[in-house]
Amino acid sequence: MKVTAIPAFRDNYVWAIHDDRSAILVDPGEAAPILAWLETQQLHPVAILVTHHHADHVGGIREITARQAIPVYAPGNEAIFGRTHPLLGGETVVIAELGLAFQVLATPGHTLGHLGYFGHGALFCGDTLFSCGCGRLFEGTPAQMHASLSRIKALPADTLIYCAHEYTRANLDFALAVEPDNPALHKRLEEVRELRGQGKPTLPVSLSTELACNPFLRCDEPSVAAAAARHANHPIQPGLATFATLRAWKDEC
Ligand code: ZN
Ligand code: FE
Repeated sequence: MKVTAIPAFRDNYVWAIHDDRSAILVDPGEAAPILAWLETQQLHPVAILVTHHHADHVGGIREITARQAIPVYAPGNEAIFGRTHPLLGGETVVIAELGLAFQVLATPGHTLGHLGYFGHGALFCGDTLFSCGCGRLFEGTPAQMHASLSRIKALPADTLIYCAHEYTRANLDFALAVEPDNPALHKRLEEVRELRGQGKPTLPVSLSTELACNPFLRCDEPSVAAAAARHANHPIQPGLATFATLRAWKDEC
């Protein structure tokens, strides 16, 4: 299984999961760069996986499926054009052309029907988890997002995380404000500066790196809870209360 980032808009990545013939497209927000990439690579699309209904993740579906009717796997409880396979989490998506199968994870928070697709050591997590950050709570509650991130934390530590946006550099500023003395963050910052300097994506990133760096996955750490308490100016329990405080803090930045 090869995975290639197709940049779209300002900072989106459409992930193409492919071999030498066929490609699965994850969150095709914009058709033009995808069609150009398929053409250059001489690949044909066999399926679309959608994490949530936002335009920057679904905007290309109409044009891609107009050329060829392919299955569109997407949240069943969100309005999504062209969806052929509504999913709620707990299903397995089998893509026979590539011999691949993905477990569907319900990850509500950013949106209520948000899904992740996990398989073959990879998680396609849309706008739920970003490197050193997490999605904004447009529809869900802090408790829903905290539970979704806990589900992701339980995956094998060597899982590669494929996020839908290149937000890592900006997220690191916030993460360093929370944990200025976390050595893993300083290491990641160096690595990210180098990758971005070369115009390369900072993704995928391993779950183990995120567990060491991402403040939103580290809400049980005393250092993170203490930072939340300093920001709120009153004591904050580790866990959900720390998560809710961090999310609100980042929204102010
Ligand atoms: Zn979104
Ligand atoms: Fe997005």
